[in-house]
Amino acid sequence: MIPVKEAKSIIHKHIPLSGNETVLLKDSGNRVLAQDIIATFPMPSFDNSAMDGFAVRAVDTKGADQSLPVTLKMVGVSSAGSPGDITLGPGECAQCMTGAIIPNGADAIVMVEDTSGFSDTDSVQIFQEAKTGKHIREKGEEIQDRNMLIPKGTHITPNEIGTLATFGYGEISVAKKPRIAIFGTGDELVEPGIELKQGQIYNSNIYIFAELAKKSGAEVVMRDVIKDDPESLRAFLLEALKTCDMVISSGGVSMGRFDYVRDVFMDLGVQEHFWKVAQKPGKPFFFGTGESTLIFGLPGNPVSSYIGFMEWVWPVLDVMMGKSEQNFLTGILKASFPREKVKCRFLFGKAWMEDGKLVCKPSSKMGSHMLSSSLEANCILGSGTGDSSLQPGEEIRVNVLPWKNIK
Ligand code: AMP
Ligand code: MG
Repeated sequence: MIPVKEAKSIIHKHIPLSGNETVLLKDSGNRVLAQDIIATFPMPSFDNSAMDGFAVRAVDTKGADQSLPVTLKMVGVSSAGSPGDITLGPGECAQCMTGAIIPNGADAIVMVEDTSGFSDTDSVQIFQEAKTGKHIREKGEEIQDRNMLIPKGTHITPNEIGTLATFGYGEISVAKKPRIAIFGTGDELVEPGIELKQGQIYNSNIYIFAELAKKSGAEVVMRDVIKDDPESLRAFLLEALKTCDMVISSGGVSMGRFDYVRDVFMDLGVQEHFWKVAQKPGKPFFFGTGESTLIFGLPGNPVSSYIGFMEWVWPVLDVMMGKSEQNFLTGILKASFPREKVKCRFLFGKAWMEDGKLVCKPSSKMGSHMLSSSLEANCILGSGTGDSSLQPGEEIRVNVLPWKNIK
């Protein structure tokens, strides 16, 4: 059994980068940027109207109000998308819609509500004096040309994708999705939807793995639930080692009589870097490498599998994709947290804000078979080793589940 810290540093020596590829913008959601995104022009890229109204020379509207309107000559219409070839002389104005180019000579917009309105006549009454610059969005006021917008390593979410489109990035360079094989093993496992017989249980872990892999930005290319049978395991793994960047298994990797996963890994020439880590849950945790494949063997108890993925596999996928985010926070415990003398302890937990501080408590269901402990959770709490429990008021590491909120 090796300490968590040592296990982490061993894994880190073996993480390959997944490489880059170019994708269409519409396919870039949930991918990780492999290039810095720079403004390719200023934003706005030309002076334009913030309102539907009339482009005027502010000086021509001096003193205008409801009782004493100013009448201006209407010389054209600038609509959004039109080339903006209108020029105003003294006493002239032009209809100018939201997003349309400001006509030459104009220096303010009067909104249509403060005028006699749009019409086909060639004059309009202005009911309000305009200040220079009013309702004009100035070229470059939001972003200047060549500004850094989004750094490489950023996960592309709805927040980023709009800006990529705004600056015309039709194709972008992103990290390749790590190709993953996931499998569960156990003679007792049955797929949801099928009737259980005595002693059987439903496979939950492979559904968890698949969902986590998708959320992390990886691609599951092989997925199966396999009997505790070396030959069947061998067949799956032979293919997985040939085609995948990573293999993640659940179950069959501890001390049981029918736990064949580790033996089969070894038979196939996988190099074992460690097996058994000083952590609870999830002690019988295997890490090895094939020629170009990382192999994680997680124990089958559902909480061990889930937490094992989030604590060990997810950060590795982040590194493979060059992702820069880091979700660890420090929270103050509102309830005690059990520690172990020689093992790190992980539990699903709930974190929330109270008086401006992040506070948290572990799930009261602490067994590694109790998967419903994830239902209330928005984080995984993790402590180092210790002789006694952490007490309320003490600090603990909070690994926020990236798709959950802290309220
Ligand atoms: P193992 O690591 O194979 O000894 O399994 C430990 C426990 O986890 C046993 O109670 C198994 O029945 C259970 N288990 C193993 N794989 C799964 C799975 N895919 N889904 C749900 N429970 C599982
Ligand atoms: Mg088993």
